[in-house]
Amino acid sequence: MLPLCLTPTSIPGLSPVSPQNPLLPQVWWTSASRPRVLWRPQLNSWRGCPAVTGFFKGAIFFPPSEAPGRPQEPRCWSSFLEHSRVPVVTEEVAREALLSFVNSKCCYGSAAAGDLIIQELKPQTLCRYRLETFSESRISEWTFQPFTSHSVDGPHRGTSPRLWDIKVQVPPMFQEDTRKFQVPHSSLVKQCHKCHGRGCYKCSGCHGAGLARCPSCSGAKRRARQPRRCQLCSGSGRRRCSTCSGRGSKTCATCKGEKKLLHFIQLVIMWKNSLFEFVTEHQLDCPAELLAKAKGENLFKDENTMVYPIVDFPLREISLASQRGIAEHSAALGSRARVLQQRQTIELIPLTEVHYWYQGKTSVYYVYGTDHKVYVVDYPERYCCGCTII
Ligand SMILES: [Zn+2]
Ligand SMILES: [Zn+2]
Ligand SMILES: [Zn+2]
Repeated sequence: MLPLCLTPTSIPGLSPVSPQNPLLPQVWWTSASRPRVLWRPQLNSWRGCPAVTGFFKGAIFFPPSEAPGRPQEPRCWSSFLEHSRVPVVTEEVAREALLSFVNSKCCYGSAAAGDLIIQELKPQTLCRYRLETFSESRISEWTFQPFTSHSVDGPHRGTSPRLWDIKVQVPPMFQEDTRKFQVPHSSLVKQCHKCHGRGCYKCSGCHGAGLARCPSCSGAKRRARQPRRCQLCSGSGRRRCSTCSGRGSKTCATCKGEKKLLHFIQLVIMWKNSLFEFVTEHQLDCPAELLAKAKGENLFKDENTMVYPIVDFPLREISLASQRGIAEHSAALGSRARVLQQRQTIELIPLTEVHYWYQGKTSVYYVYGTDHKVYVVDYPERYCCGCTII
């Protein structure tokens, strides 16, 4: 039995590494005699990369490998399942849920919800698996800013650290963020390429003259069919250029008039949260996207720097979802980001199909989630008042 098969073929771009032989996978044997094979990104692509010469615009550097996680403990699922009870939706609860749903909608009348006859309740409990992977990725890019200070932290002060060696404060787990840092010792000063070191350039509005044609008389000094001289330009035909306020030149926006630019390598760190979600199949007509967001009863939560696939959950599709989710996140992030934390949860989502009779017709609506949200397609008492029906 091999519960975990993160093989190199299933995770493109990753290759196994071991301390002894970089071509062999690292294998741990757990208490349940299950071999664990961990895969890490190829290290060659970033290792030995000199600080500055290796950088280029938008460069991606692979993170250093992480230490292996703790071995997986065998779990006793029956105790999880025994201690989790999803409350049963009674007829009263089903009606209350519908009433509060119609009251929240301006186009729904509440009389039908109060009067309809509930004939049958068909409860089901669905299982939702979620995997969240919080990862950090780092890229470097050349950038510049106006040179205002006289100190330049250039290569003469030392070698720049490698991207993944730069220590930064990590935001709280699962909180996305993007931050930018100046890589130490990467700066150099250059003449501004936009103004060629002049700090300003000729105004395009007046071509440097500081005066532009009068907008009132269009330079004719007097307005059409009027004998008097133009009042706006006092008969000169010209007005102070509004683009440059009459200066004839504009301060260079690139160097802000400083004439020089400080070029440096910028480290851009992105903390991202990837989500994998799976809800067990059901035969009812309730949209999957509602169930994916429904409030559930937490059955199991596992959080660590790296979680292990669930292999023996009584519902096989949940175990498979866990394995698929972890493999998908490894494949998507493995070679370009460092996983900082993972969290996987299993939740129970109650879903009740409510069969009802109203004015000679039978129909259904659904009550889902622990907070009793309602999904109804053909509510009998609906009006249109011009609002958008949600
Ligand atoms: Zn004028
Ligand atoms: Zn101008
Ligand atoms: Zn400039």
